[in-house]
Amino acid sequence: MAQLSDDCFAFGGPMLSVDEAVGIIASRVQAIGETESVPLVEADGRILAHDIPAPLPLPPFTNSAVDGYAVPHAMLPPGRELAVPLKGRVAAGAEAEVAQPGHAVRIFTGAPMPAGTDTVYMQEDVRIDEAGRVVLPAGLKPGANVRPAGEDIRSGDVALKAGARLRPQDIALAAAYGLTRLDVVRRLRVAVFSTGDELAAPGSPRTAAQLFDSNRFMLMAMLRRLGCEVGDLGILRDEPTALADALRQAAQRHDLILTTGGVSTGEEDHVKASVERAGSLVLWRMAIKPGRPVAMGVIAGTPFIGLPGNPVASFVTFVHVVRPTILALCGAQPSPLLPMPVRAAFNYRKKAGRREYVRASLRKADDGALEAVKFPREGAGLLSSLVETDGLIELGEDVVEVAPGDRVGLLGYASLL
Ligand code: AMP
Ligand code: MG
Repeated sequence: MAQLSDDCFAFGGPMLSVDEAVGIIASRVQAIGETESVPLVEADGRILAHDIPAPLPLPPFTNSAVDGYAVPHAMLPPGRELAVPLKGRVAAGAEAEVAQPGHAVRIFTGAPMPAGTDTVYMQEDVRIDEAGRVVLPAGLKPGANVRPAGEDIRSGDVALKAGARLRPQDIALAAAYGLTRLDVVRRLRVAVFSTGDELAAPGSPRTAAQLFDSNRFMLMAMLRRLGCEVGDLGILRDEPTALADALRQAAQRHDLILTTGGVSTGEEDHVKASVERAGSLVLWRMAIKPGRPVAMGVIAGTPFIGLPGNPVASFVTFVHVVRPTILALCGAQPSPLLPMPVRAAFNYRKKAGRREYVRASLRKADDGALEAVKFPREGAGLLSSLVETDGLIELGEDVVEVAPGDRVGLLGYASLL
């Protein structure tokens, strides 16, 4: 599990922008490179290990897109209708026919095109005359209503790329090739700890000065959505020796160690000292709000990320630091977060030089446009601000003010994971 040399994250100095942090992660974190084969039904959300060249053209044979009548276009007189006798009938799944010259062939959707035909009249567009002939109106283009072999994907083209995070439609494509299993990157094993004497685990007693540990459950759910296997290592007390031991042990069995809390520089913030004891560490002061410092490190070759304790800061830094790290460890194609343009329905002022994420809800305005409404309060500890909103408005480093009517970008929560 030694994907990282101990100096990999060695980095000090000034504030890091979000883009710099993402860039450092992408360039320094190495993929684990271990794969496994899974059946298609279990492939959703997994990272494809190798390119898959199309073993067949899609569709595999030229076929009719509609129920109707197949003809050679060359038999049609320009500018006028033609009545032709019918000969033959081909349904979906049947062997292709050979058309008789001067005849139309009855055909159904998905049936192979009879040899000698290239165009299909929809049944709604023709009539049958008293003599039982099909009357074909003028004006149909050659090749109409036909799906040529390979029009979707040609044989040999790269149909699915290594590093793709498989979605239902990607799995459909693999099935369309007749595949039953896919090679994917094995699930990352991620250890998660919360730290802090003020935390009680849900289900155990809570003193009057404690709160229940919520971050660990949020982070574990986020990790699962990213396809990770989560090692829930509970709550670590603010005690450096025990912390360092726990981190060292976790490093042996995991590909990534994630903690929340204790990474500030207060005297009760022991994560920093413990990681330094067990491995090496840098504090990233990221120019991001909500954020506070994020700790990055390496413990016996295993990457370590220490997120802040405030739930919103933990959520936002997960998205910008943990998510790209996980994608890089899996060898996934980078997937930049692309904010969706919406109209601001709020006023906001911010400092230049840092990226801010404003929690917002979406609504449809009277003119039909999507509007973002800012959550009324701003504290990084407010879980309600995440629960009651739809996403994060991304305000770039150079933005200093937002006024109602401005166009802003929203990262919907669903798009983040
Ligand atoms: P810290 O980063 O350890 O200074 O924590 C900052 C604040 O975040 C604490 O005062 C707690 O209110 C809150 N906090 C820390 N850890 C958690 C957690 N696991 N779940 C919920 N809130 C937390
Ligand atoms: Mg703490």
